[in-house]
Amino acid sequence: MTRLLILTLLLCVGYSLWTYLRRALGGQRPPQAPPPRRRAGGRQGEDLVQDPQCGTYVPRSEAVETQVGGARLYFCSTECRDAFRARQG
Ligand SMILES: [Zn+2]
Repeated sequence: MTRLLILTLLLCVGYSLWTYLRRALGGQRPPQAPPPRRRAGGRQGEDLVQDPQCGTYVPRSEAVETQVGGARLYFCSTECRDAFRARQG
């Protein structure tokens, strides 16, 4: 019976250690899931903004807003924003 207890304890500790290691090694949170690429029309009554990086139209409320050189730009995802910024130099 003691062996079972130890085994359970080991599993518990092992799992904690594994999650801790994954967090420590991974370092970053999983990227925010981008909204669906193709969206017909979007929500009613909501402005659509165009992502200058990939050309996708996204509802303003779901867009990633960024100021670039004084201009306000909207992107469909942080990936596109970063790519656009990298392209700007
Ligand atoms: Zn995009």
